[in-house]
Amino acid sequence: MILPITQLGQPVLRGKASPVSKKTLRQMRPLIQAMIQTMHKARGVGIAAPQVGKSLRLFIVAPQPSVRYPHAPRMKPVAMINPRLIKHSRAMNTGWEGCLSIPGIRGQVPRYTKIHIQFTSETGDLRSAVLTGFVARIFQHEFDHINGRVFLDRVRNTRTLVTEREYRTRLQRKP
Ligand SMILES: [Zn+2]
Repeated sequence: MILPITQLGQPVLRGKASPVSKKTLRQMRPLIQAMIQTMHKARGVGIAAPQVGKSLRLFIVAPQPSVRYPHAPRMKPVAMINPRLIKHSRAMNTGWEGCLSIPGIRGQVPRYTKIHIQFTSETGDLRSAVLTGFVARIFQHEFDHINGRVFLDRVRNTRTLVTEREYRTRLQRKP
């Protein structure tokens, strides 16, 4: 099922999302499936529950090469429930981000290059992982969503923002 994607300005994107309880964990499957389908249709590499109007601590991380991210690694979509950022590198790196809830705009966002995370899987298991590079970037972008933040809040200089069309033109100019 394809769900409508909430757009910047809708309060659900600015609220702190609630944890998924153990009781309702089993009922998340249809929502997770719908989020993955909605993300794929919009050609995203991640999506958080508030982006489909649900104020829950749940998101999908799913990098794959695309027009926007030609060098992204390919990873099967992973649903992360009640995710936690345990530790992060001091080092940050700045890279391009966009957001399905903020169509048409892209910006350069600093993120930690390496993070240690924990989350509950859709089968209810506690998982730990160390993420680096682009996957770590997606996690931090989605983690912001469940805390009511969007990438624009982290852009250091708004004068570096570009439109999606300009961004694609620049990508094509690169050898
Ligand atoms: Zn987003």
